[in-house]
Amino acid sequence: MVLKIALAVAVAMFIFRLGLTVLRMLATPIPEPPPAGELRKVKLQYRCSLCGTEVRMTVAPDEAPVPPRHCMDDMELQQTEDL
Ligand SMILES: [Zn+2]
Repeated sequence: MVLKIALAVAVAMFIFRLGLTVLRMLATPIPEPPPAGELRKVKLQYRCSLCGTEVRMTVAPDEAPVPPRHCMDDMELQQTEDL
């Protein structure tokens, strides 16, 4: 009986903390993007090999950014054009 109460309290505390963490994350302002000077203009086209969706990336933190993900998988780089 005592154990059950202790367990219930522990679970309640855990859920309470989880809620607080989520609230804190929601309350935290989204970090500012780096200054424009640090971003590179790129012209990369990616294609999702699973569903065929294509996206074009125009700005990235560097010239070889991590490919975006779609359908739970990395998208394939289609073409690279120098501006
Ligand atoms: Zn996809």
